[in-house]
Amino acid sequence: MHQPDGTLALADIEAAIKPDDAHYARTRLLALENTLGGRVMKLTWIAEATALARRHGLGTHLDGARVFNAVVATNVDVAEIARPFDTISVCLSKGLGAPVGTVLVGEAELIGRARRHRKALGGGMRQAGILAAAGLFALEHNVARLAEDHANARRLAEGFAEIDGLTVTMPDTNIVWVKVPAERAIAFGEALAAEVIGITSGYGGTEQRWVTHLDIGAEAVERAIAATERFFAKG
Ligand SMILES: *Cc1c(COP(=O)(O)O)cnc(C)c1O
Repeated sequence: MHQPDGTLALADIEAAIKPDDAHYARTRLLALENTLGGRVMKLTWIAEATALARRHGLGTHLDGARVFNAVVATNVDVAEIARPFDTISVCLSKGLGAPVGTVLVGEAELIGRARRHRKALGGGMRQAGILAAAGLFALEHNVARLAEDHANARRLAEGFAEIDGLTVTMPDTNIVWVKVPAERAIAFGEALAAEVIGITSGYGGTEQRWVTHLDIGAEAVERAIAATERFFAKG
């Protein structure tokens, strides 16, 4: 169970570690996520949680699909955010804008084992350099500009906050969570779709998740706010 700030209570993590008993699956890994739902996780908590994992002999993994959003939002180096973990995965698509790709980062021995699993699971690729080139381009050109996505998300949240009926959480990064009245959620989604504005709803029914990225500029944000204002003005 997540705490309101997105963390897991250390006692809950500890309670979830199964005893060394042949009746149970072995608990092997603590996997955390940063950013989580667009929220930047506190490094002090991560240090405590990963230290707890190591005391119990667990591996540690960071799902860093959106770790560069945390880097840009906090100005903390990615090496610093990754340091407490054995491995970290980073998505090159999503906000970084490469067409495909996620990389797993860790020490050579562990990555060697991961390669073996990837091969066994049919995930190997040949001549993947063309994809790697796109990933390198994304890392070299599209990290600093995540700040634009964060500014666009903030503007979106501020616009929504002005609209009666919406409950908005101010974003740390590029994901805006908006609560829509249950009885209007479906009609709202349809009204947006009619204006070719795509959103992901279905998180708890009325919870919507708006994501900005390099294809969503400031003009698109204003269009989304205007369409939302029009819908809710109709009451
Ligand atoms: C997208 C995403 C993944 C999966 O990334 P792939 O590129 O499909 O491997 C994992 N975790 C989070 C938080 C994501 O957003």
